[in-house]
This record gives sequence, structure tokens and C-alpha cells, in this order.
Amino acid sequence: MNRITWDEPDGSWGIKGVELQTLSSKVYGALYKLMDYEKTGLSPKQVEKMDLLYTEKCKEVAKMEKELKKQGKVCEPEYLGENVVIGCRDGRCNCGNLVRSYQNFCDNCGVKLEWDCVRG
Ligand SMILES: [Zn+2]
Repeated sequence: MNRITWDEPDGSWGIKGVELQTLSSKVYGALYKLMDYEKTGLSPKQVEKMDLLYTEKCKEVAKMEKELKKQGKVCEPEYLGENVVIGCRDGRCNCGNLVRSYQNFCDNCGVKLEWDCVRG
């Protein structure tokens, strides 16, 4: 993609042949947004494709998590309390094992631990 704007690691930026300080703040702001966007190196079509793909993948993950929950392969641990020493939440897996909120899986039965909804 050919860029209209340029930028440097020190934060300076511009457009070849344009004196930015002569522009109104609205135009300056719009061009700054353009520069920010151009730094991604992506075309608008690529961004749209990426967004669609991301949405699709999120739906797939949600569907898979729902299925895993149904199969009992995901567990929302029972909340036991805040562990202020370690800085996490303590919980109990459905298998009875004590688990902590930094664990993604129970080290006893192997189920995926779902901590998002676990609160005291
Ligand atoms: Zn377990």
C-alpha cells in the first residue's frame, strides 16, 4: 500500500509537500487519523476481511465453549475467596480440587476453568 503520510519512531509525522501547521485543527486531526491507520500497513479491504474473520472466529469459539460446557469439559469453579497473598481468586473445581484463578485448566481432572463469572 502506498502511503500518503510518513512517520518516524520519534513521533514526528507529516505529508510530503504539506505544511501541517497551516491546516485547521479538524483537517490536522483527520490526517493524523489517516497516518495512524496507514501505519497498520493494511488496506481498507484487508481490515474489513479481518473484522469478518474475527467475528466468525469469535462465534466459533463461543459455540465450542458452549459445547464443552455441555459435555462437562468446562468448569466454573466454586468461589472460595480472594487470595490476597498471591493476588488471585481461590476456587474449587467440580472434581473437588482447589484451583486458583491464574490456572486455565484443573491440574487434577483437566477441565478448562472458566473464571469470568466467578465472583464472591
Ligand atoms: Zn478438576
